[in-house]
Amino acid sequence: MSPHTLTPQGVRQHVQPGIAGFYRLGTIVNGEFFTYYFGRSDEDLRQRLLRHASNGFYTHFTAREAEDVQDAFEMECLDWHLQGDQTTNKVHPAQPKGSDLECPYCSYNEQITEINTANNGIYTNVR
Ligand SMILES: [Zn+2]
Repeated sequence: MSPHTLTPQGVRQHVQPGIAGFYRLGTIVNGEFFTYYFGRSDEDLRQRLLRHASNGFYTHFTAREAEDVQDAFEMECLDWHLQGDQTTNKVHPAQPKGSDLECPYCSYNEQITEINTANNGIYTNVR
């Protein structure tokens, strides 16, 4: 996910309307993207990002389209367990409305002991 400028133009250019997806908001320092907040939209990722763009809090975003609501939820859960304590996110991601989906990472969170950020956020289990 390469970062884009968090402006209405940047959002419209890089995110299709009407899709579920996952996003990170942050800023770029010395060429590196730092995530301050992340989230998902189950219905319209573009609309969600346009709202964030209008409040001017963050300068850049990354976004990834989801295959469906579950896919978006699980991407957000993964970020929560990997780096939630380094962001301004305060609570575990909520279930999609009307679903009984459960976070797949709560049960083995303790086994995640190392994050290889150089490898695009893919975690390594070293136990
Ligand atoms: Zn969880």
